[in-house]
Amino acid sequence: MNIQFYNTLTRTKSEFKPMEGNTVRIYSCGPTVYSYAHIGNFRAYIFMDTLRRVLQYNGYNLKHVMNITDVGHLESDGDEGEDKMEKAAKKENKDPYEIAKYYSDIFFRDMGRLNIQTPEIISKATDHIAEMLEFVQGLVKNGYAYETSKGIYFDISKLDKYPVLSNRKLDEQIAGARVDVDEEKKNPYDFALWIKAPENHIMKWDSPWGLSYPGWHIECSAMGRKYLGDEFDIHTGGIDHIPTHHENEIAQSKGLTGKIPAKFWMHVEFLQVDGGKMSKSLENIYTLDDLQEKGIEPLAYKLFCFTAHYRTKLNFTFENALATQKALMRLREGFIRQSEGTEKIESTEIKEYEEKFLATINDDMNMPVAIGIVWDIIRHPKQSKQLAELLLKFDQVLGLDLANSQKYIDESKKIELPEEIQELIEKRKKARLEKDWALSDEIRDIIQSKGYIVKDTKAGIIVEKQF
Ligand code: AMP
Ligand code: ZN
Repeated sequence: MNIQFYNTLTRTKSEFKPMEGNTVRIYSCGPTVYSYAHIGNFRAYIFMDTLRRVLQYNGYNLKHVMNITDVGHLESDGDEGEDKMEKAAKKENKDPYEIAKYYSDIFFRDMGRLNIQTPEIISKATDHIAEMLEFVQGLVKNGYAYETSKGIYFDISKLDKYPVLSNRKLDEQIAGARVDVDEEKKNPYDFALWIKAPENHIMKWDSPWGLSYPGWHIECSAMGRKYLGDEFDIHTGGIDHIPTHHENEIAQSKGLTGKIPAKFWMHVEFLQVDGGKMSKSLENIYTLDDLQEKGIEPLAYKLFCFTAHYRTKLNFTFENALATQKALMRLREGFIRQSEGTEKIESTEIKEYEEKFLATINDDMNMPVAIGIVWDIIRHPKQSKQLAELLLKFDQVLGLDLANSQKYIDESKKIELPEEIQELIEKRKKARLEKDWALSDEIRDIIQSKGYIVKDTKAGIIVEKQF
């Protein structure tokens, strides 16, 4: 089956095939573990998960590396500011290794809650210092790097072309005065490969240039090369990685091996909140826990991400996410209805659905349309186990854990009732004891208007949340 992916490098959609055999080699830029990952970050990992699943659905094996950045990512991507890990360590009065462990554990817990597959290889930057150092020494040897008082820098003027991934105009940016002025750098866009550690920097290693630590870009180049070779199939990240981080990874690889490391460069657009950027000052940086508190499950957030194509901006509002939570419950109920169905569906119709779904996911992962097909199946006029099986097959790509639909529905019913609802239930019980049926019905309607259903059963009163 022909898979078409958009490639940032060529700015076109083109056919994807692994470079070698049946295994796709992928590198994904992973989290910098200095803080909690937010829902914007998770849009990037949901995209990564869908990419994995689409490739597996097409019968490919995967060798997928995701890094954990636990040193060297400075506050600005342009080599300015403090190391994010060290800053967090100082703020929390902890060791940076402790900080890294704490936030990576939470990151992987959240990945699990989103039913995101863990890549085959997880590589921590601090475990690969030797490989990074070797890479930098190779660049120095090849004449692509030079030493300043601050560290070892990459000399972009030695390349045939820079930039290649983004179409940013360097001159325009210089005019815009967004580059730092470091007199020791040969070109304003030269970037740090290796940074000499100030006295108080905790994470530092011996090197030919004294105690120092790696720059963020070299980490990914060295780890990608170690596990996937000089050239591999796909490199992923968020769009913010295009102009600096990935551009510089390409520069480094060209300097050492003469090759652009990945054939396909795939980038996910940003999640916005209330139509704008997520920012601390707006207090709109939400985690999965913040969503859960408002009744939005991690898997509902995943379904929410499927409402937009990965290359378009997605706007998060609690209102829309709550609507998706309800949709997810309907999806689960629909799946169960189909599982219990006994009607027969012609095999040609099943095949048509399969073909349409495959063509859609293979068209640069068009998840909004793929979800549309899923709804068509849920709303099919017939009820049939065959359709439930089809949904389970498609869920290999969606990763919404439809197989456990009943469990989620049961759990959602075991809810803690708000005090207001509890009081109304008590009032209704009293009305029923006094045989005031009109009042009892009136209270039941009030309860229902607040999103809860009251059922009077032989076993007693059951209250369920309405989705
Ligand atoms: P970081 O931990 O800051 O390196 O970011 C981890 C990943 O999240 C990177 O791939 C970023 O490009 C991505 N990312 C950060 N913010 C957003 C956002 N608002 N929407 C989508 N992806 C994002
Ligand atoms: Zn990276």
